[in-house]
Amino acid sequence: MTVHTQQFDYPLFKGKVSVNTGLFIDGKYVDPLDRHDIEVFDPTTGKVITTIAAGGKKDVDRAVVAAQKAFKTTWGKTVSGTQRGHLIRKLAEVFEKHQDELAALETLDSGKQYFHVKAMDFANAIETLKYYAGWADKISGKTIEAEPHKFVYTLHEPIGVVGCIVPWNFPIMILAWKLGPALATGNCVIVKPSEVTPLATLKFAELIQEAGFPPGVVNIVTGYGSVAGQALAQHPDVGKISFTGSTLTGRKILHSSGDSNLKRVTLELGGKTPNIIFDDADIEQAVKWTAMGIFHHAGQMCTAGSRIFVQEGVYDKVMAAFVEIAKAAKPGSGFDPNTKIDPVVSKTQFDRVMGYINAGKESGATVAVGGGQLGNEGYFVQPTLFTDVSADMKIVKEEIFGPVGVIIKFKTEEEALAAANDTTYGLSACIYTKDVERATRFASALEAGSIFVNITSGPDWRVSFGGFKQSGFGKDLGEYALEGYTNTKAVTLNIGQKL
Ligand code: NAD
Repeated sequence: MTVHTQQFDYPLFKGKVSVNTGLFIDGKYVDPLDRHDIEVFDPTTGKVITTIAAGGKKDVDRAVVAAQKAFKTTWGKTVSGTQRGHLIRKLAEVFEKHQDELAALETLDSGKQYFHVKAMDFANAIETLKYYAGWADKISGKTIEAEPHKFVYTLHEPIGVVGCIVPWNFPIMILAWKLGPALATGNCVIVKPSEVTPLATLKFAELIQEAGFPPGVVNIVTGYGSVAGQALAQHPDVGKISFTGSTLTGRKILHSSGDSNLKRVTLELGGKTPNIIFDDADIEQAVKWTAMGIFHHAGQMCTAGSRIFVQEGVYDKVMAAFVEIAKAAKPGSGFDPNTKIDPVVSKTQFDRVMGYINAGKESGATVAVGGGQLGNEGYFVQPTLFTDVSADMKIVKEEIFGPVGVIIKFKTEEEALAAANDTTYGLSACIYTKDVERATRFASALEAGSIFVNITSGPDWRVSFGGFKQSGFGKDLGEYALEGYTNTKAVTLNIGQKL
C-alpha cells in the first residue's frame, strides 16, 4: 500500500495532509492488481505533486463484486431508509470536520483558490449530502386507482451498482451530487474520479470509513478514463452510469452502455451558456455577475457564460466595465488570498484554450482584452473577450472551457433570443433585465435546462440541474435526481376477479 504525504506551511492551512494513493475497494485502500502510476500536477506551477494508482479493468471488476456483495447483503437488505439517512448525514458531518484538509488537496491538484473551495464547492457539497440524507426515508411509490378488483401500487427500487464518473472541474462537489441521491435511494456506488484531480476524492474515502458505511457501499477506483472509466461503463453488472464530463466522452459512454447491458445513463455534459444583458438591467450588477460567470475557476465550468449578448444602448458601458474586471486578474497560488484567478487545470487544457484563442484571432475576431498567457509560471490564461465575431466561428460555437468569452451586440429581443438558442448545447442561460414580463417570456423561450434571471448560473442542491440538447439528459440535484437512481416497479393484485 502506498501512502504519500504532502506538507503545507501556508498560514490558512498549516500541517500535514496524508493521502493514500491506492484504490478504495470493499471498505479499505488496496493496491491495483497491476500497479501503474499517474502523475498529478499542481497547475499553478506545472510541477508534479505526487503519483496515484491507475486502476485497470480487473480493479473495476473487484469493485463491482464488492458493491454487489454489499447490495445483496448489508446495504440492500438490512439497512433501512432511516439508517441510510443517518449515515449520509454522518458523512456530511465528518466532511465538515475534515474540510480544511480536503480543501487543501482540492486546491493543490485543481489550482482552485482555497477560499473558494470551502465557501462555494464544499458548502454546496455538504448541503447536498444533508439534503439527500433527508430524502433517504421518503423514497416511496404510489397506489394507483384502477378497476375495483385491482389493487395497484408502485415501488421505487434501487438500481443496484451505480458507476459515478466525475470530471476535474468540481471534483468533490459533483461527487456529492452523485453520492447523495445514489445512496439515499439505496444503491452501492463505484466512483471514478478524474485522473487529473483525484486527491481530495481519495481522502474522501477516509470519510466514508469514519462515517461507518458498510464495506463495499462506496468504492473509489482512480485511473484513466479510457481504461478504468470505460471498464465501468462497459461492465455488465453495473446498472447505471451517472456521468458528468465532456460531450465527446458522453457519446462514448452511451456506446459502452449499448455495447454491454443497456445500463441506464444520465449525462451532464458541456455548455455554451448565453448571457443576455438588456438596456434596462442594473448594469453594474449585470456585469459583475456575467464576469463571474465566465472568469470564475478560469471559465472551467459547464455553465460558463461564454456567449455574452449586450443590447446596443449599454454596449460601450458594459464593454468598458468588462475590460476593467478582466485586467484585474492576478495569478498565484490558490493558498494566497491575493490571487485573483485560477489556472486552467493542465498543460493539455492550457494548450487547448490557447488553441481556441489563436483560432479566434485567425478567424478575424477582435481581442477586446486578454488573448495570451497570464504570468510566466503554471497554466494561467488571461481573461479574454472577443468582439466582432460571427455565428460560424469556433469560439462562438464550441465549448472552450477557459476564461474566454465572446461579446455580441444586439438590437431587438427577437434577435437576442434567436442568437442565444443558436447552439447545439442547452445547459443554462442567464438574462439581465428589470422587466418581469420579458424575463418570463425569455425563461419560456430559451432552450436550456436552467434559466437564471439577474444572477449567474449557480446550481443549488434543492433545484434540478441538467441540460437540453447536447448538454445531456437526466437531472442532478433536487428531488428530480432521485428518479435517475431508481427503477419503478408496478405491482398489480387481483382482488377476487375470476376467469
Ligand atoms: P472528460 O469527459 O474528459 O472526463 C470526465 C470523466 O470521464 C473523467 O473521470 C474521465 O477520466 C472519464 N472518462 C474519459 N474517457 C472515458 C471513457 N471513454 N469512458 C468512461 N469514462 C471516461 O471531461 P473533463 O475534461 O474531466 O471535464 C470537463 C467537461 O465536463 C466539460 O465539457 C464540462 O462542460 C463538463 N461538465 C459538465 C457539467 C454538467 O453538470 N453538465 C459539470 C461539470 C463539467
